[in-house]
Amino acid sequence: MTGIKPVNTVVLVSPSIIFGKGKNFAYPLLGILYIAAFLQKNGIAVKIIDSFVNGYTLDELVEIILKENPSLVGFSAMSCQAKAVLEAAAELKKRCPSLKIAVGGPHISSTKDEIFNFSEDIDFLFYGEGEENFYKLAAGQPLEEINGLIYKNGNKIIINSPPQLIRELDDLPFPDLALLDIKKYDSYFAKSLPLASLMASRGCPYGCIFCDAHLTHGKILRLRTPENIVDEIENNHRKYGIKQFMFKDSDLTLNKNWVREICSEIDKRNIRITWTCNTRVDLVDEELFKTMKKSGCYMISFGIESGSQRILDVMRKGITLEQVERAISLCKKSGIEAMGYFMIGNPTETEDDARETIKFSQKLGLDLATFGTTAAYPGTELYKWAVENNALPDRFWYMKRVAVSSDAREASGNLNLKNFPPAKQTKLVKEANKGFYLRPAYLLKYLLKIRTYYDVERSVKSFCDLIKI
Ligand code: SF4
Repeated sequence: MTGIKPVNTVVLVSPSIIFGKGKNFAYPLLGILYIAAFLQKNGIAVKIIDSFVNGYTLDELVEIILKENPSLVGFSAMSCQAKAVLEAAAELKKRCPSLKIAVGGPHISSTKDEIFNFSEDIDFLFYGEGEENFYKLAAGQPLEEINGLIYKNGNKIIINSPPQLIRELDDLPFPDLALLDIKKYDSYFAKSLPLASLMASRGCPYGCIFCDAHLTHGKILRLRTPENIVDEIENNHRKYGIKQFMFKDSDLTLNKNWVREICSEIDKRNIRITWTCNTRVDLVDEELFKTMKKSGCYMISFGIESGSQRILDVMRKGITLEQVERAISLCKKSGIEAMGYFMIGNPTETEDDARETIKFSQKLGLDLATFGTTAAYPGTELYKWAVENNALPDRFWYMKRVAVSSDAREASGNLNLKNFPPAKQTKLVKEANKGFYLRPAYLLKYLLKIRTYYDVERSVKSFCDLIKI
């Protein structure tokens, strides 16, 4: 089937979860930035519209997109954005029927052609890593030759072969921060601004049942070279004044030697930056923490998930509570702040298990913690379990409108557990947040860090966001 008419300009959009509501804290969007960089490298101009952070209303978003007079618009969607994509696509097609609309991102990698059942307005879907394949669509290549593409031929849905994972990540052009208003991005644990996010690797070999990361980037770890990573850091530091970098890799320390090489490259070039990363508690040691600290790492986020070993095992997290305690204690000892992610409402979890999580979170000496109810995202093992066990009142929960108040989420994907229903899970998440952040010793430590009026402003904003006031 012939391709679309080649385009000179593409508009790439990240919609907000709720129209009219942006995020106080969000990072530059790497998925869209990588697609944009690949298009630009191949001579196609790109405009990025980040409504996730700007929170445009539906009318505003459509107006801003159409002002660019595009013939191809690409949306990137996590499952929580899927409903907003449908609404935006419907409005765009109403106003401009000839516009071609493509959707990619984690939601499509998880659900493939499913969204076609909910919309007649979307023309193309992309699953897996999309840089090269989205470019092929924009360049007008025949549709059947584009891997990872899903499209309709009359009433028939065609799902092309899966895209190859990009082997040489160094070959990808760097995300171009000039496409964003970098001042808009912030994190509640930022030490300095402006900040930028980056990915040094792709792929995670672990099998946590709630996680969908492998559906886009696969299970095989692929690494950029330390020189290439630090070239990107240096470029963004010198060109845009970026002072802080957030590594968004799933587990940065999967290969410790490689992390040491990145640190030594930052040191060798004498780049004065701060940085943060995510990793697992079973992939760290004291010597590594010290090396990371020396090159500017000041905070590490760990997926701890639960304070119950039984629940960790159910989640197939592959870690022990002892490993958690040891990693956090060594991290703190090395002078790096530690943050923990926790989830409440996992398969077979009881209120007692959740209370163990709350207690555990408070005894670890963490600097920050986030608690959330567990959601069954499509494509995960957890989703399969939830459907098989009738734990989801609606298996297409993510296609419902998300209510404005987080207390009254219609679209939550929470598990309907026997004796531990979603309302109770939400209540315990609130208790967990308040219990963690409103401890007198914690509050005192927090207040003692405040030095300037700017610190006060930021602290109030962060605090409200963290404890969800
Ligand atoms: S949660 Fe982290 S460690 Fe587990 S599978 Fe996902 S990316 Fe890998």
